[in-house]
Amino acid sequence: MPRAGEGNKLAKILIVEDNALNIKLFCDLLAAHGHEPQAVTDSRQAIEAAHNFAPDLVITDIQLPHVTGLDLIQLMRADRRLADVPIMAVTAYAARGDEERIRAAGAQAYVSKPISVMRFAETVDQLLKTGRQDAAEVDQVESPANAVAESPGPSEAGGEETSS
Ligand code: MN
Repeated sequence: MPRAGEGNKLAKILIVEDNALNIKLFCDLLAAHGHEPQAVTDSRQAIEAAHNFAPDLVITDIQLPHVTGLDLIQLMRADRRLADVPIMAVTAYAARGDEERIRAAGAQAYVSKPISVMRFAETVDQLLKTGRQDAAEVDQVESPANAVAESPGPSEAGGEETSS
């Protein structure tokens, strides 16, 4: 079972996002849920920030200058210290193949902008419950559909993508 408190345990969450308004929104949402957010606006500093901050979860924009979100996900997955940290990707341009590419790169979850506050919070909770070990397992699984299905929590509760 998930820990008591329905995912409200304090978690350190690194946000990689170049848009100031989104940073404010994400930080406010996460702080309201009792988490400790830290934001990086320059994706070139994201790996070093993650090493220093040791986040329980990374939320990354995909459309980033210098190092794209996709590249960043791959860099994290190739980094021994970050390989098993859950990653949630956030993107404004949800073309059809994007989600597959993002999940194939190693992100466990994907939320499109403008974000639904409820979906954002649910996804954060879900990834924190799944945690680092399962994230590492998921990383070795080819099918991206297994990323969420591995979670021992409530499986059908709103975590599904609505593509229609
Ligand atoms: Mn951006």
